[in-house]
Amino acid sequence: MTSPFSYEALPMRVSFGAGHRSKLADEVNKLGLKRVLVLATEFQKGLAQEISDSLGELSVGVYAKAEMHVPIETVRDAQRFATKAGADGCIAVGGGSTTGLGKAIALEYGTPIIALPTTYAGSEMTPVWGLTADGVKKTGRDPRVLPTSVIYDPELTLSLPVGLSVTSGFNAIAHAVEALYAPDGSPIISLMAEEGVRALITALPNIVNDPQNIAHRGDALYGAWLCGATLGATTMSLHHKLCHTLGGTFNLPHAETHTVVLPYALAYNSPTVPGAIEALRRATGQDKPAGYLRELSLKLGAPASLRDLGLTGADVETTVDLATRNPYANPRKVTPEAIRWLLTAALNGDPVTE
Ligand code: NAD
Repeated sequence: MTSPFSYEALPMRVSFGAGHRSKLADEVNKLGLKRVLVLATEFQKGLAQEISDSLGELSVGVYAKAEMHVPIETVRDAQRFATKAGADGCIAVGGGSTTGLGKAIALEYGTPIIALPTTYAGSEMTPVWGLTADGVKKTGRDPRVLPTSVIYDPELTLSLPVGLSVTSGFNAIAHAVEALYAPDGSPIISLMAEEGVRALITALPNIVNDPQNIAHRGDALYGAWLCGATLGATTMSLHHKLCHTLGGTFNLPHAETHTVVLPYALAYNSPTVPGAIEALRRATGQDKPAGYLRELSLKLGAPASLRDLGLTGADVETTVDLATRNPYANPRKVTPEAIRWLLTAALNGDPVTE
């Protein structure tokens, strides 16, 4: 029997295909924008400049100071830059950090965003914003920050280093895993999640073997789109809460942290989410999805433990405290003992038991 559900489709246009960044000017015109600002990290400034040049007079220039965790100082600086240039929209070329900057500008000014994702993080598919002020990262949901259009061009991901491709792919898989047992999940989201996991676990080993193969890159980006869409549509649980705490408090790297924690969080929730486990069995072709994800991540060269990422035993206690202070959605009861067990296993890279 189908369980009751509600589902709200998010309004956005997606264009997918190798070379589709050439459609950007059409997209800008379709939205009626006349003066867009191209956002990027310092590292991706060259790409941003190319994109800006391709837009001719539709672009007012490049702001290439996007940073991880969206610091408020950068946001204020970018907002001043956008105002001075008279920008009426933003083009976010990059990963979650760049899209995050576009969202922070949109939150204040309501300016539309066209995203050209270059990682698998999935921020472009969500109305979730994040902002860091005085060392504290706040997040929230607001429909104004959802990109109006997303152009997925796999050619833009060819330069993503293999290591980051793997961990960013696992970051995407984590969205789908938690969407499968989200309190506000639905049949359509479960279909997308299952297919997203299938696409990524197929594509990632192929990318490790042949990183410049555009077909494999396309498969991974397709999976990332689906997984990102599930993130945008549902409420995440224990896994995302732990990663958010570890990233925000100890500055652990985002994608790598998701990769290490996911198998342990899934193993913890496994006994209470039979439907999600069935979907993951179908997607992976494996009987024990949590153990399989762990094995696959190690085979593809991902970090083996939170200790490898810089966490210490003392940090585990702080995280237990922070992650159990406020209640949040999770299918299995969250207790300090359980979180301590889970984090200690992830700290040491212990075998995953499910
Ligand atoms: P990122 O955007 O921080 O990028 C990491 C580094 O890789 C940057 O230096 C970037 O310039 C570089 N890079 C990106 N694409 C590249 C490419 N194709 N080739 C070469 N280098 C490339 O990393 P991320 O994992 O995409 O994003 C992480 C951030 O996004 C975190 O702050 C996270 O909280 C946020 N996020 C937010 C949401 C949301 O819904 N709001 C969702 C996912 C992630």
